[in-house]
Amino acid sequence: MIVNNIKSRLKETKEGFNYIEVTPKEILLWGGICICNHCGKQFLNENMYLVFVLTDTYCKHCFEEWKNRDKGLTKDDIEFDLRLQKEMSLKWYDYHLGGKIYD
Ligand SMILES: [Zn+2]
Repeated sequence: MIVNNIKSRLKETKEGFNYIEVTPKEILLWGGICICNHCGKQFLNENMYLVFVLTDTYCKHCFEEWKNRDKGLTKDDIEFDLRLQKEMSLKWYDYHLGGKIYD
């Protein structure tokens, strides 16, 4: 059930990197403090972005910048990240958003 909830919330960048928009409440529930790991500011009243390949949560501004930036990744880099993402990301999102995938 939870895994379906997570899957339904997954979005992708143009490279295929997945992410989930999360609310401050959700962040606090997993023990986060709503601080963007890029700019270091706190966002208690705005949604943020949980991104597997960054293993981090970014604010909207930093996330958009990262999403639209040419990351200088080679095709191999992207394939590697996407392979890891396929194997691990659902579990990682589930860890943050609570619930057990493998019931
Ligand atoms: Zn930021």
